[in-house]
Amino acid sequence: MKSLLLCFALFCSLSFPVAAAALDEHQQFTLDLFKQLIEINTTQSSGSTLEAAELVAKKLRQAGFSDEDIHVIKMADRKANLVVRLRSPEPSYGPILLLSHIDVVEANPEDWGKDPFTFITEGDHYYGRGTMDDKNEAAIHIANLIRMKQQGYQPNRDIIVVLTADEEGGPNNGVMYLLKHHRDLIEADFVINEGGVGVIEDGKFTIHAIESAQKIYQSFQLEVTNPGGHSSRPEKKNAIYQLARALLRIDDFQFPVELNETTRAYFEATAQTRTEPESSLMRGLLQTPPAEQSIAHFEKISSVNPLLRTTCIATQVEAGHAENALPQRAMAKVNCRLMPGSDFKQIMTVLSDVIADNEVAIEPVFEGLSSDASPLSSEIVDAVTSITAVMWPDALVVPSMTTGATDALFFRNAGMPVYGVSGIFNTAGETRIHGRDERILIRSFHDGSVFLDQLVRTLTSPLDATSGQTL
Ligand SMILES: [Zn+2]
Repeated sequence: MKSLLLCFALFCSLSFPVAAAALDEHQQFTLDLFKQLIEINTTQSSGSTLEAAELVAKKLRQAGFSDEDIHVIKMADRKANLVVRLRSPEPSYGPILLLSHIDVVEANPEDWGKDPFTFITEGDHYYGRGTMDDKNEAAIHIANLIRMKQQGYQPNRDIIVVLTADEEGGPNNGVMYLLKHHRDLIEADFVINEGGVGVIEDGKFTIHAIESAQKIYQSFQLEVTNPGGHSSRPEKKNAIYQLARALLRIDDFQFPVELNETTRAYFEATAQTRTEPESSLMRGLLQTPPAEQSIAHFEKISSVNPLLRTTCIATQVEAGHAENALPQRAMAKVNCRLMPGSDFKQIMTVLSDVIADNEVAIEPVFEGLSSDASPLSSEIVDAVTSITAVMWPDALVVPSMTTGATDALFFRNAGMPVYGVSGIFNTAGETRIHGRDERILIRSFHDGSVFLDQLVRTLTSPLDATSGQTL
């Protein structure tokens, strides 16, 4: 196992950037599938995840998977999921599930300056909608599973790969549908998902994240109504002023610092990468209670503060109906990102107390779905750490909590832990996902394929009882 990893590491260091001509047979197969998936439009408005799922099913059949192990599950016109299973001859554990979504965010060719649905190789990157989110992982998981099948690989637990629709929005969320209607096909001990990336800073591989928690998306509406009247005769009560005072009170308020297992581990690990005094300040967050000077330092940093606590911020305001009339109505939307496990009703009560004006009505815009963090099992962390140590010796494996959202919450709520980890590194600060000119480093794509293959084999290999090593 170790020598195999070293050989992969050597390959990686020699092959940057990977030129098309240098690809081996498996890399070429993976790349061809990736290209085909990118070139199928799978947007919610006009694309077809059904076409993408059928393409993958055809490849699986050609590779020898039987029909009973391949399921194209159609939910609506143009909308489908794919579920495939590589069976263990003698399962010792429950299955593992490799999840990726095959729908993509809308992409306008005029914004891009090129066709988002044409796969382009340019410089060190592959370009196209879905190259990072999330057709890269879809192509990698399927191609690796096909290779395992062809090699006669015998895992000690079933390996399920699931490709889904409408993760990016739309009425046919594939994960919700499968959990409701086909739970038997996707029941697993845990799930490997998108959401964990690696970070390249100044050409160095610094952080390799395992996402094990995410915040909860929850919006509230604040509303004040007054009788109104002529603006030449102002009343003491004014809906706009009342609403403004309520929003300023929310602005002045901070929810208490709340660490969980994931953020605690994140700060413990990240403190090692910082110089003094920031390193000590970060360790101060881990004290009980957290050191006040540490909180004061990190709550000013917009990338760190949301990891410390629930946050709420005003995002929309609408008020008044005429320039020369007293406002009859003033409304604001406040968007909150709750710490995992929080109850939105409790957060609403806190906001209501902070506003301290019972003429300001507050109500949820929708009921946000809460999900608990997945436990950081040593099985996952050890596997990711040992492979990372060989492939990217300078990178630190760091548990992470995303402040955004993926389909992980549906699995977590169904009792299946989810870990976002990919082996795919990206340049720090690059924000093209969901935006223009989405791309992936050529090296990252092929290294990610090696990493995920190694990870799945490590998690599904029988242990040698004498050495304790995977066979
Ligand atoms: Zn995604």
